[in-house]
Amino acid sequence: MVVRKYFQFIEIWVPCNICEQLGYAPMVNLRVMKDDINRGLQLGLYTHYHVHGPEGQAPHTVAVYIDPAYQVTGSKAYEGTEGVKSSTFAAGTIIPVIVKKIPDMAVHLGMVTPEEFSILKVCDGNNSVDEVARILKKDKAAIDSSLQKLKDKGLVDLVKKA
Ligand SMILES: [Zn+2]
Repeated sequence: MVVRKYFQFIEIWVPCNICEQLGYAPMVNLRVMKDDINRGLQLGLYTHYHVHGPEGQAPHTVAVYIDPAYQVTGSKAYEGTEGVKSSTFAAGTIIPVIVKKIPDMAVHLGMVTPEEFSILKVCDGNNSVDEVARILKKDKAAIDSSLQKLKDKGLVDLVKKA
């Protein structure tokens, strides 16, 4: 993962295993405007969805997670534009999924902590608990306990892949 920061945007080279399988370059290049990142979220993470693919073929997507320092903390490639298909997860994998979108204001109102809010951003159905921990650079035990609290608050569903 390479990130170059410019005045108004950041340029990212991010791995895409789908491009690689199609015989194209294994890294895709994209630009994300800093304004979009800042507008998207001051706390936690911004998620950028880069839809791309060879001309004439169904597009695929790389989701890129960007922190407030404009660092890319993780990425995930998937077919189509609707998110990772649950069939790609191994049986028994726990996939945390946000139940309802909550406003940035929720942090100021004390509904969730800033840390919980950043966790919610990664619970987009595209990541297992392990991947959430990796993207947020936290240990799994801490993420497990935060996810349980978020589940108790009714904000997250923990879906187990059958
Ligand atoms: Zn690709």
